[in-house]
Amino acid sequence: MELEIIDISDNNRPSGNRKTVQQQKRERARRIQQRKRRRRKILMIKLAILFCMMLLIILFCVILYQLLTKLGNGREEKAAERDFERLEEVIEINDVVRPAIREDFLTENPYSRPGEKLGTVNNIFVHYTANPGTSAAQNRSYFENLGLTGETSASAHFVIGYDGEIIQCIPLDEIAYAVQKRNYDSISIECCYLEKDGKFTDATYNSLIQLSAWLLKEYNLSVSDMRRHYDEGGKKCPLYYVEHEDAWEQFLADLKQYIADSQV
Ligand SMILES: [Zn+2]
Repeated sequence: MELEIIDISDNNRPSGNRKTVQQQKRERARRIQQRKRRRRKILMIKLAILFCMMLLIILFCVILYQLLTKLGNGREEKAAERDFERLEEVIEINDVVRPAIREDFLTENPYSRPGEKLGTVNNIFVHYTANPGTSAAQNRSYFENLGLTGETSASAHFVIGYDGEIIQCIPLDEIAYAVQKRNYDSISIECCYLEKDGKFTDATYNSLIQLSAWLLKEYNLSVSDMRRHYDEGGKKCPLYYVEHEDAWEQFLADLKQYIADSQV
């Protein structure tokens, strides 16, 4: 029995060693395979992550695009709303009637009626004569005489007297010399007054409202297009309505109300 056991162990030893070498080879091959599989797995995971990231980026871009489009649309809608409001306002003033105006055009001259063509009218300017107690006719004469004296360049399309009379000195298709940088795209109205503070009389004030409303209608403008001379260049004109901002705001509100009341 003992011999047999020895024989078996002797016979087994070399064959055992051979198997170990083969096993080692197989193990190595298995390990190489495993490593390859692991690398393939890692590669697949990396690709999956990359794919997910690309999807996220595309999704982000789509959301961003939609947000920007919505914002753009919102802005366009607001602009359209503003245009519509403006249009409504313009439609509202279509029933305003032309006030009584006496046309007494100045003689063409380089100092007060140059005869140059007026372009598109964008604003209506309000002035005061800076000469208390003078009438509309006197101020018209002053402009007329500038053609003879050449003392300075000045004029306005209209002069409103302290009794409310309106004299037109310059045709509406010609420029006046009233607001330095804006003569070619605006209409100017001079207002007479009695008090030193420059406040208009009720008669002047009412005529100014009527004339302004009619001009706004004629040029498809809105109350927001009314300007003081002061708003373009800072000159204190019309004095009272520069020193009393609330009085100017009140004038604009009264003008708006007058236009609304003029609707049939
Ligand atoms: Zn002025």
